[in-house]
Amino acid sequence: MENISRRDFLKRSATGAVVTAAAAVGCAPKGSGSDQSAEELPLGPVTCRKDPKTGQDVSILAYGCMRWPMTKDDDGNEIIDQEQVNELIDCAMQHGVNYYDTAPVYLEGKSERASALALSRYPRESYFLATKLSNFNKSTHNLEFAREMLSNSLKNLMTDYIDYYLLHSITGGREYFENRFVKNGILDYCIEQRNRGVIRHLGFSFHSNRPNLQQMMDYHEEYKARTGENLFDFVMIQLNWLDWHYARGKDANASDLYAILEEHDLPVMVMEPLLGGRLSKVPDHIARMFKEMEPQKSVASWAFRFAASHRNVQTVLSGMTYMEHLQDNIRTYTPLVELTDSEKDFLDSMAELMHQYPIVSCTGCKYCMPCPYGLDIPAVFEHYNRCVNEGFVSADSQDENYRKNRRAFLISYDRAIPKLRQADRCIQCRKCMTESHCPQRINIPGELMRISRYIENLKRNG
Ligand code: SF4
Ligand code: SF4
Repeated sequence: MENISRRDFLKRSATGAVVTAAAAVGCAPKGSGSDQSAEELPLGPVTCRKDPKTGQDVSILAYGCMRWPMTKDDDGNEIIDQEQVNELIDCAMQHGVNYYDTAPVYLEGKSERASALALSRYPRESYFLATKLSNFNKSTHNLEFAREMLSNSLKNLMTDYIDYYLLHSITGGREYFENRFVKNGILDYCIEQRNRGVIRHLGFSFHSNRPNLQQMMDYHEEYKARTGENLFDFVMIQLNWLDWHYARGKDANASDLYAILEEHDLPVMVMEPLLGGRLSKVPDHIARMFKEMEPQKSVASWAFRFAASHRNVQTVLSGMTYMEHLQDNIRTYTPLVELTDSEKDFLDSMAELMHQYPIVSCTGCKYCMPCPYGLDIPAVFEHYNRCVNEGFVSADSQDENYRKNRRAFLISYDRAIPKLRQADRCIQCRKCMTESHCPQRINIPGELMRISRYIENLKRNG
C-alpha cells in the first residue's frame, strides 16, 4: 500500500478512495440480529482529539482488543475468529478509528497477534498501538521480565515502536509503585526506550483510589522538577456515569481521579465506559427512562457521550466484540455531540437509582480466574446481575412476585452455570484475592457468600 499521511488516509478512507477489505464487505453486522446496514452509518470519520505531545489526531473512539470474537478450530479448540477481527478492524479503520489497545495478557496472550494481523494490512502510521507491561505477579517484578515482555510485544505486534505503552494496572500508591517499577530499574528502562523512540508515550492504567493517584502525581511532579520533562504522558482510568460519583470502593470516584489528572494536565484514556456492559444493560424501568429521553439512541450511547464530554479525555476504549457495538459507537461519535448540563443532570439521577441496586460491579475481566475449586466467578456475578436488572431478585418472600421470581432465578441459574461451578462451591480460601487482583475491588468471597445465602433462602422458602 502506498505511503500516505494519516490525515490523507482518513480523508480518502471516508470517501472510499482507499481500497480495503472493508470496502468490499462493508460494515454489515454478522448474525448479530441488528437490522441496521452499512448505508445507515454516517460517512465521515469519528471525532478526533489532538494529542498534546505530538499534535496528531487521535480518534475519540478506541478499539479495546480484549474480547475478540471466538470460533472453533477443526479439533474443537476455541480460537480467535481472525476473519471477523479483520472485518471489524476494516470497518473501524474505514470510519477513522485509529487507536487500538491490547495487552500481552489479553485472550491468553493471543490478542496482540490477532490485532496486528488485521492492522498490518494498513500503513503503520495510519493507526496507534497501545499495549502494556503486565508484570502482575511479584515474581515478574524484575528488569529481565520487562525487557522480554516489551520485546515480545514488538514481535507480536509486528512493529518496531509502540505508540502508547502502559504500566499495567497500578493498584497502590508510591511505595507499591517503587517496588514494582522503580527499585528494579524497570521505570528507567521504559524511559530509555522512550528516548530511543521505541515507546512514543509512556503512561499507566490505574485501578486504585484518590490518595494513591495523588501519590503517583507527586512522583510525576518530582521527576519533572528534576529533569524538566514529563515522567508520564497520559493516564488511563475507569470513567463512566455511575463511577463518577458512586464508584465502589473507598474514595475512588471518577470525578476526583479525573480532576487530579486535569490539574496535572495529563490526557486521560478512558476504560470501562460501560462498566463491563452494565451501563448498557440497566434495569428495565431505568432503560425506559433513557428511551423516553432519546427514543432513537441506545442506552450505551449515553455512556460514550458522557465519557467523551470531558475535554481532557483523549480517547474512550470500547471492547467491541460484535459489529453492532462498533456501528453504534461510530454513530455516537460521528460526530460527538457533548452532553448538555441537563443531560448530565439526568445521568446523575440515573446513577443515583442504579446505585440502589444490589449489583456486583464485576466487569467480566476474568483476572480472578481460574478458581482452584472450579467456580466460574464472573458467570455467577453476571447471572445474579442479570436477574437483578430483570427484576427477578426479590428481597422478601412476602413480595407480590416472589414465587414467579424465585422460579425464574433458580431455573436460569442452573441452566447458566453447571452445579460444580456455582457460588455454594466457594470455600472462602481467598486465593482469588491474594493471588490476583480484582480491578473492581470486589470482595469476591464475600459477594459469593451473599449470593449463595440468597439462593439457599430461595430454595428453603419454596
Ligand atoms: S477480577 Fe473482579 S471484575 Fe474481573 S471477573 Fe473477577 S470479580 Fe469480575
Ligand atoms: S475464595 Fe472462593 S472463589 Fe475465591 S478462589 Fe477460593 S473457592 Fe475460589
